[in-house]
Amino acid sequence: MVEKEKIPKNVTSKKVVLKFPKRTINEPILYRLTKDYDLEFNILKASISPEAEGLMVVELKGQKLKYDQGVQYLIERGVKIQSLSQDVSRNEDKCTYCGACVTVCPTGAFNVDSKTKLVDFINSKCVACGVCIKVCPSRAMELHF
Ligand code: SF4
Ligand code: SF4
Repeated sequence: MVEKEKIPKNVTSKKVVLKFPKRTINEPILYRLTKDYDLEFNILKASISPEAEGLMVVELKGQKLKYDQGVQYLIERGVKIQSLSQDVSRNEDKCTYCGACVTVCPTGAFNVDSKTKLVDFINSKCVACGVCIKVCPSRAMELHF
């Protein structure tokens, strides 16, 4: 059995979704997190949305005070930060299989069946970024806290 890593009390370690506005895409924001705030980061997923917004799922780890300061720095740069404790599900009664969500999902959590043209939602691939919620015309995608 693999033992879970023990996190010291004064250390924060969280998986978060970071949404970078277009203007920040070429800025060394993650480098600054390491250099100025001593934060370690592990990029779990990364993509660029059709609106050229950058989206990353990262594990951020560091001393609590530095972690909070690092998060404040991200917010000041216009980066939206969201905890992965949220969950997204699909209301099957509302979905019309229009396919609007398929191309916008940065992690490929939707799949169109080539024969039936029905759209599958693969929950295990979803990082709860919320992008599909905005584009779904039937409001079938729901965010739960
Ligand atoms: S955008 Fe909404 S209605 Fe269309 S396939 Fe996706 S979940 Fe279903
Ligand atoms: S919230 Fe929607 S767009 Fe974002 S990863 Fe999950 S299924 Fe894809």
